[in-house]
Amino acid sequence: MDTSTPITKTISLNEYGIKNEHIHYQLSSEQLHDLTIEMDMGKEASSGTLAVNTGEFTGRSPMDRFIVKDSITEEKIWWGDINIPFETEKFDKLYDKVIAYLNEKELFVRDCYACADAAYKLNIRVINEYPWSNMFAYNMFLRPTEDELAAFSPEWTVINAPGFIADAQLDGTRQHNFAILNFSRKIALIGGTGYTGEIKKGIFSALNFILPVFKNTLPMHCSANVGEAGDTAIFFGLSGTGKTTLSTDPNRKLIGDDEHGWTADNTVFNFEGGCYAKVINLSKEQEPEIYGAIKKGAILENVIMNADGDVDFGDTSITQNTRVSYPIHHIDNIQQPSIGKNVKNIFFLTADAFGVLPPISKLTPAQAAYHFISGYTAKVAGTEAGVVEPQPSFSACFGAPFMPLHPTKYAEMLSNKMQESGVDVWLINTGWTGGPYGVGTRMKLKYTRAMISAALSGELGLYNYDKYHIHSVFGVAQPRECPGVPTSVLSPRATWNNDEAYYKTAFKLTNAFRENFKKFEAHASEEIRRGGPQRYAF
Ligand code: ATP
Ligand code: MN
Repeated sequence: MDTSTPITKTISLNEYGIKNEHIHYQLSSEQLHDLTIEMDMGKEASSGTLAVNTGEFTGRSPMDRFIVKDSITEEKIWWGDINIPFETEKFDKLYDKVIAYLNEKELFVRDCYACADAAYKLNIRVINEYPWSNMFAYNMFLRPTEDELAAFSPEWTVINAPGFIADAQLDGTRQHNFAILNFSRKIALIGGTGYTGEIKKGIFSALNFILPVFKNTLPMHCSANVGEAGDTAIFFGLSGTGKTTLSTDPNRKLIGDDEHGWTADNTVFNFEGGCYAKVINLSKEQEPEIYGAIKKGAILENVIMNADGDVDFGDTSITQNTRVSYPIHHIDNIQQPSIGKNVKNIFFLTADAFGVLPPISKLTPAQAAYHFISGYTAKVAGTEAGVVEPQPSFSACFGAPFMPLHPTKYAEMLSNKMQESGVDVWLINTGWTGGPYGVGTRMKLKYTRAMISAALSGELGLYNYDKYHIHSVFGVAQPRECPGVPTSVLSPRATWNNDEAYYKTAFKLTNAFRENFKKFEAHASEEIRRGGPQRYAF
């Protein structure tokens, strides 16, 4: 775990075709921090944190993510806009080009692994062009002990060359940047983008294929934590819905904030060794644990600082997607190793910018399957060019861009697990209340946290109709009361003060749900189809 002892082992990259004298192997976090500043690629914030700019890309580029179509993947992958095929020959050529590009460069190499459960451990070698990207790998993947390192044999390799520019015509890419997975060669090849998230999501996507296909384990885009009684809770949700924020809870031990596997033995393990939090509008008062994790060892991305190195978390002039990565031990209350047992509650987080979904509701198993397959959240103005009013956004399994198999594969596995473990499933709207985006306001974090604790502690009571109201449009069970939350907040319609506008907007959303679900209808049972909204506009 501790890399303060300098690593004396040297390695050769000959097996990758890389001939290079300038290899920095397994540098410590401090060394990488210092080198980044020396090389003028980053600055130190007043908190001691390294701050970098990731360059042209400040987010992932889903349209430039490919999977090599070969004998392993051909029959199994759900090919389409999300999993875009890439030819083996083209990959091999592009690989050689990237290697030739890296040959002349100083390189940063790190051996690490994914999956906190030893039975699933995936050894990874990360080869970076830049020191800060290598520090990101230190923060986000699991850190081998010295003994583990001595015997280390890499299984997957991430090759990360942000400065390499592809020629789309020649190389078969869409444009100059790419992230390509090759399951036969076990390589994630990333070029033309410095966005660090591509590194972690590359391995995540690989595991999302490997675990269900070969290890009978459900991979999930979710965060997880464990309570004092040893009960595990998992939180699914698309980007910005609150996975990292809500799993970082002083009263529960953090297992992980983004990527987990649910095994056949009913345990949940983290794939990663760190967290990657959004820092837009971050405040010490609202999110003290994450705020406190931003110190030496962490890496801030694309934030604006003043001359004293104080970060302005409200400044989105580079991007809305400002981030910080830190090793998980920057959070005080963590589960070690990052494995939980006894899953009791599942939360589906959605940031409903229409402001029509209840802030908390309980789902039946059929509703849970329906909402998992739908994966609804909303996009609000500003996050993407051209988005001026809220737009529904559906991403199957709350993580379609990272899921190589057909969504119903993961949904089936989840349904089985839900049945076996008898979990309670809750739909949480962390989005708008009192009206849609532009009229209403974002749900208070304090209230969302209170609703989640009430669900976790059992205070929301047994599932009976006296304590719940069945929503007339969505069909979900909405609690009438919740400790720590004003009763009026629990009913979205009541917060609008305009029934007509509320129902009109609610129908707009249910129609979007129906439209989206069409492509899954053939795969879904009658029961699951009935788990959807109850009323639509005609
Ligand atoms: P990603 O998959 O991109 O990592 P995420 O699901 O982890 O996304 P968070 O990083 O937790 O998302 O982002 C949630 C953001 O919304 C934070 O900036 C948080 O401060 C803000 N927020 C505001 N109100 C709420 C609320 N009621 N519940 C949760 N988050 C809220
Ligand atoms: Mn997150």
